[in-house]
Amino acid sequence: MSVLETRNIVKTYPGTIALNDVSVSFESGKVHALVGKNGSGKSTLVKIFSGAIEPTRGEILIDGVRMNFSDPRDAFAKGIATVYQELSLVPGLTVAENILIGRLPMRGRFVDWKKTFAIADELLKEMNVDIPPDEVVYNLSVWQCQMVEIVKAMSFRPKVLQLDEPTSALAQHEIQALFKMIRELKKKDVVIIYVTHRLHELWQIADTCTVLRDGCLIGTIPMQEATHKDIIKMMFGDVEIHTRPHDLKVEDDVVLEVKDLTRKNKFENISFRLKKGEILGIAGMLGSGRTELLKSIFGADPFDSGEIYINGQRIFSPSPVKMKKAGLALTSEDRKHEGLNQIASIKDNLCIASLDLIAKGAFIQKHRENEFAQRQVNELNIKVSDIRDSVSSLSGGNQQKVVVGNWLNTNPKVIFFDEPSRGIDVKAKQQIFQIIWEQSRKGVSSIMVSSELEELLEVCHRILIMREGRIVGEIKPEEVKIEELYSLCMGGEKN
Ligand code: ADP
Repeated sequence: MSVLETRNIVKTYPGTIALNDVSVSFESGKVHALVGKNGSGKSTLVKIFSGAIEPTRGEILIDGVRMNFSDPRDAFAKGIATVYQELSLVPGLTVAENILIGRLPMRGRFVDWKKTFAIADELLKEMNVDIPPDEVVYNLSVWQCQMVEIVKAMSFRPKVLQLDEPTSALAQHEIQALFKMIRELKKKDVVIIYVTHRLHELWQIADTCTVLRDGCLIGTIPMQEATHKDIIKMMFGDVEIHTRPHDLKVEDDVVLEVKDLTRKNKFENISFRLKKGEILGIAGMLGSGRTELLKSIFGADPFDSGEIYINGQRIFSPSPVKMKKAGLALTSEDRKHEGLNQIASIKDNLCIASLDLIAKGAFIQKHRENEFAQRQVNELNIKVSDIRDSVSSLSGGNQQKVVVGNWLNTNPKVIFFDEPSRGIDVKAKQQIFQIIWEQSRKGVSSIMVSSELEELLEVCHRILIMREGRIVGEIKPEEVKIEELYSLCMGGEKN
């Protein structure tokens, strides 16, 4: 077993302490996640390990032996390999040349190509990577390049492998394939450091999680014991994470019922009932059909067969206008393009959906418009200096509140929240959740879709599991742990 260790590492820049007295150790055979909000010091630590920068003070030890790296090449030679987000392969060369660059086998004065391809082939096979060694890198996808990078790094038999945000450019199925590859790597005697900002990945891949905040080591926690709340607390310190308050009641009246709804190649035979005041989550991985389902129910997209009832009344051939009249609202996952008119004012954006309520005949009543806009600014606590300012001047969190406020002005009975917390900071997220809960208190029901499954556990009364366009299960948040929910969404079983 190898161990990578730091003792009292300090890295200062003029006016900034990037790392402040960090002492931490990582064992081989495990995946160690490194997390922290932007500027917390993750990259600095990765760069110190990779030899790209030198610490101001402190020591690095591998297997108890003190190491100094003069540059990345030196760190590499001493056993630390790093795969960065920006990949470094040479596009015009073959996979084999890229893997063996700088150490091509020679025969006399000439490169031994036969041997080059044979060695590369063996290295690729050893890692179960199905890419021909004579393929030119130019023809590979980002994901394939990343696999080649990892094969190349591992071919040096490093003691430490650092992966810096490896999933940021990958599709869902590629992420799962990468995780499979990393799990295989764990069998080798290598310390794996995994930098990510996608917290939900932690439960899928990491054994431990080390959290940095403002350059300080907050702690290391085994993932088996860690809850989402624990990690958020470690990352952000003072933020309070609330879970669904107990006073939110679900009444017996069914406000929305969907029967056997099918849209070919998107979703199939979807049936559920939503009760008054209920917050229903839909959990699923990207591409499971969640957004498509919401859009079809709302009438923004078509469907092939099935029935939709609102308050017991069947709605035939729904359209957004019809659905809005019937009491439905949809806050889109794509806030920038679908949810807001970026060049319009905050006021206009708060009144788009409710214009028919504001207008008298063909005329928009200015005072009513101000009243509608101001009401949401007050109720949702939207931070604005003037409602006539452009909506694009607001922070992500406040923009999201405008999206929600726009729909609240229509007095909806049911609100669809598609990825309501995407791209907003942790405090704003909590405020959005408070809004969803407050609506439930008023008897408004919600359906919430989020890729951050832990949010669904924190916010919802009930969660449907969607996989490949079908509802495959239903859970109560109180009864399921986060890793179980991930596994259900990915096709595993509940333990
Ligand atoms: P993270 O990777 O967690 O986002 P970093 O390690 O990049 O954080 O940054 C930690 C802190 O050090 C930040 O305050 C950042 O502004 C500062 N910092 C990083 N690199 C430099 C640099 N080259 N010069 C000055 N300050 C830097």
